[in-house]
Amino acid sequence: MLVCYTKHELRNALAGLRAKGAVGLVPTMGYLHAGHMALVTRARAENEVVAASIFVNPTQFGANEDLSTYPRDIEQDLQKLRDAGVDVVFTPTVDEVYLPDADTHVKTGYLSRVLIGRIRPVHFGGVATVVTKLFNIFQPDRAYFGCKDYQQLTVIKKMVADLDIPVKVIGVPTVREADGLALSSRNVRLTPKNRAAAPVLCKSLDLAEVLVAGGGATVHSVKKEILDLLAGMPCGVVESVDIRDAETLAPMRGRIVSAVVILLAVRFESVLLIDQRVVTPPNNR
Ligand code: AMP
Repeated sequence: MLVCYTKHELRNALAGLRAKGAVGLVPTMGYLHAGHMALVTRARAENEVVAASIFVNPTQFGANEDLSTYPRDIEQDLQKLRDAGVDVVFTPTVDEVYLPDADTHVKTGYLSRVLIGRIRPVHFGGVATVVTKLFNIFQPDRAYFGCKDYQQLTVIKKMVADLDIPVKVIGVPTVREADGLALSSRNVRLTPKNRAAAPVLCKSLDLAEVLVAGGGATVHSVKKEILDLLAGMPCGVVESVDIRDAETLAPMRGRIVSAVVILLAVRFESVLLIDQRVVTPPNNR
């Protein structure tokens, strides 16, 4: 596995590898777990060349967010990627990625202002800019993102369509712990008490799925059932419960008659956990 620290090294490495066939890219912020590795496995199955990036992108963190405490373990990450058969990894410094006088950014619209964008106003603009840069640096044929970060996946798919970026964006299903908690690098910062409470996100989504699958559920009734379940948490603060059109993230009202995505954000002290599920009513299957 080639490990590249500069854009120049990476471009040279990929120039040699590209002759083998399609390049699949897995962008990450490191501290890799089985969720990230599911993206790598999928990329390995679908491409001749697998590339990954490890970069904690400062521009997607707001001033009071957890950039400085974001967990890191580069040696272990590299070992995991090596074991998974990754061909080339890019692990640059912030100065390598951003010019000191950078003056150009990707401006995202509606999709990045709603939902998590309301809690984290600079987040998706930062994601869109760094992902565009990574697409330009790697020039991959396919790029793999987790459905766990559903809004991020939606923003990136829309950006690629809107800006004619020649890459196929692929969403990979969420990998979970045995008790349903979605794997996340942030989970290590949960206190034991918060960790014990955290599976309530997944349980709420299970409940919502059953309600919608039964037919006749309304946006209001499903939201109320979720909020009632979350109200029983011994700790944690509900930041948001949203039910939106699965593709456009437009708000929905009334009876659920088409695929919707249910998006949850719950804060456990300084740790914001998110989870999501796309659910489909019986008449729409
Ligand atoms: P991050 O390092 O948190 O930026 O995540 C890198 C990629 O891994 C993103 O596309 C995430 O959506 C994806 N990812 C993170 N956690 C999971 C998970 N539990 N299951 C599947 N994909 C995940």
